[in-house]
Amino acid sequence: MDLEASEMAIRASMQQVGGRLLEKLLNADKGGYRGRQMDCGQGHQADFIGYRSKDLVTVLSPVKVERAYYHCAVCGGGILPKDEDLDIVDSSFSPGVRRMMGRVGGKEAFDEGRRDLEELAGVVVKTKAVERVSEAIGQQIERANQKQREAALSGKLESLDAAAKLYIAIDGTGVPVVPHEAEGRKGKDETGRAKTREAKLGCVFTQTGVDDEGRPERDEHSTTYVGAIETAGEFGPRIYTEAVRRGLKRAQRRIVLGDGALWIWNIADEHFPDATQIVDLYHARQHLADLGKIVYGSASTKAKDWAAGRIELLDAGNIEAVLTALKRLRPRDPAVQEEIRKAMTYFQTNAERMRYAKFRGESLFVGSGVVEAGCKTVIGHRLKQSGMRWTVRGANAIIALRCNQLSHRWEEFWEARTAG
Ligand SMILES: [Zn+2]
Repeated sequence: MDLEASEMAIRASMQQVGGRLLEKLLNADKGGYRGRQMDCGQGHQADFIGYRSKDLVTVLSPVKVERAYYHCAVCGGGILPKDEDLDIVDSSFSPGVRRMMGRVGGKEAFDEGRRDLEELAGVVVKTKAVERVSEAIGQQIERANQKQREAALSGKLESLDAAAKLYIAIDGTGVPVVPHEAEGRKGKDETGRAKTREAKLGCVFTQTGVDDEGRPERDEHSTTYVGAIETAGEFGPRIYTEAVRRGLKRAQRRIVLGDGALWIWNIADEHFPDATQIVDLYHARQHLADLGKIVYGSASTKAKDWAAGRIELLDAGNIEAVLTALKRLRPRDPAVQEEIRKAMTYFQTNAERMRYAKFRGESLFVGSGVVEAGCKTVIGHRLKQSGMRWTVRGANAIIALRCNQLSHRWEEFWEARTAG
């Protein structure tokens, strides 16, 4: 006996039987007939016209649903009360199937998701449908986020229990977009044309304790994410809302972690004025490593040795010594001189955000790739696979979906959606 063939065949026939059962159940209500007239929702009477049938993909098998159709002469629109009851307005997929589509669409490329649905659940749909439904769910999540934002900005958003320390880590990463989305924007490569748009990402996590050696420990499962391709002015309220929800106001201490980008510190000043600002050590080290390569050549051991020595000073938070070391570099090439000037500005501007020895003494995280990992997990793994090109609208829907799922809020969202 071929077990695999048998189990798959039985599952398929059970889904067929289940589908027929479901179809009977769905059509036992005479199509949701409400009498010859019903309220259209705008205060008029809509007339019963007749029955309309539609094909619905369910987690069992495709079914036909009969629905009473009403028309309001004043509004000029049709009403199918049964569609509203069943949560299938304008959709040929049942809520169960849509939930599965959103689940896979947030995790993997749409075509992969379609394959998983077929193999794992025996549900056959088109790739484009996975994409459309996932995006629609992402947009619904974003609408729920907007409501929370309004509540947070008017001081009405309730926060979760607060831990001792609340970290807000912010970063940006490029998302590959279709050509028209990058039109007129400057890029870094030789063509000078941009191929990406910056997605801004925020991670919020908490820290209560330290390990045996006094190093900070991130609270388990405490990281939540928000993000979008948008301006800093739009992103500020977004990350603020998430921080409030996570207990910003009740935390004993607030810390903002970021790279050197000015927009991040502007958001910190505006929305988290009493937070300790820390430049992510990983980013700061990278600056020195990159500069070493520019000055001494990318393959040279001198570059590595130079950077290693300066990184020691940096780790100790001795930014004055780093600056002195930068001043001692005297390359002839004006382009290299310019890079050194830029680095000096970076370390001067951020000196107080780089007192790493002091921060470590207070058992604070100084980076350790939390933000980097967040960007990779949320954006990179899903939106930057080879060949992917996004519209801003599509990318933002999937970023919203993915942030929701990775923040363990999927269940909460889906339940609230059904209830509302
Ligand atoms: Zn009407």
